[in-house]
Amino acid sequence: MHFYICLTLKVMMNKIEHIGIAVKDLDLSCNLYEQLLGVPAYKKETVASEGVNTAFFLTGTNKIELLSATSEDSVIASFVRKKGEGIHHIAFDVDDICTEMERLKANGFVLLSEEPKIGADNKLVCFVHPKGTNGVLVEICQEIKNKTNG
Ligand code: ZN
Repeated sequence: MHFYICLTLKVMMNKIEHIGIAVKDLDLSCNLYEQLLGVPAYKKETVASEGVNTAFFLTGTNKIELLSATSEDSVIASFVRKKGEGIHHIAFDVDDICTEMERLKANGFVLLSEEPKIGADNKLVCFVHPKGTNGVLVEICQEIKNKTNG
């Protein structure tokens, strides 16, 4: 006989929204991932404020984001210089990014921005410093709701 204490905990991180992969040449890597996954990128987008070009692939419900630098001082450029191409971040989908940022801060995590930023693929995003997450850069992202469609 076991006793279970039921707590109504709100789910904070819904799922892995995507995995971000840093690449040197977005066009070359788009061709490569198209061959690997058997589907073309469904979206390409530049986020000028972050210095990145992005391309998104969908396999089933799983999403891969390729990121390349738009300039030498882009965070992706310095990542590739230090670590080479490879997995750059893991992004989790959240319902309410501001609440989640507060929760993470309260738990001692260091956020890389004070406010959510506009990211690629219609998302509000915030990154968690990898020093506090076993070396993994974690992104939390919230879909920007289209007001006219509710
Ligand atoms: Zn991302």
